Amino acid sequence: MKYKTKNRDWIERYFAAHADERARAKDIYEKMTADGLSINMATVYRNLDRLEEENVLKAYKTAGEDEKFYQYMRPGMDCGSHLHLMCSRCGRIIHMDIGLMNEISEYVINEYGFTIDCGHSVLAGLCRECQMKSEDKKGKMIHA
Ligand SMILES: [Zn+2]
Ligand SMILES: [Zn+2]
Repeated sequence: MKYKTKNRDWIERYFAAHADERARAKDIYEKMTADGLSINMATVYRNLDRLEEENVLKAYKTAGEDEKFYQYMRPGMDCGSHLHLMCSRCGRIIHMDIGLMNEISEYVINEYGFTIDCGHSVLAGLCRECQMKSEDKKGKMIHA
């Protein structure tokens, strides 16, 4: 029985330590293997599915990506009721944990009769750091 929960614990610990990053099943597989665990993809998927059912992780796919990504649901952060911003370059996740979220949801319901499913929605874009990096490059190119 202990053996069964070992992989699950590893995965949960990994996501908790990288709470603002997303990971695919194969990323987890590679990291577990690198950590000396003998595991196969089926076990990784099974554990990820279970953690998703238990609301420890959130799984989503963005347009143009064919593999699911998993993200840690920070306890107490109520990730099901706010939107998430995802940097399409570095994969960073930003929790839009703002008071405005209720207003946005209400507005969308009133205006369009549409209920936003925050748990399955993510807004893609570029984070501040990645924007600065591309600004740097632009700057250098101009001055070069
Ligand atoms: Zn969140
Ligand atoms: Zn980024």
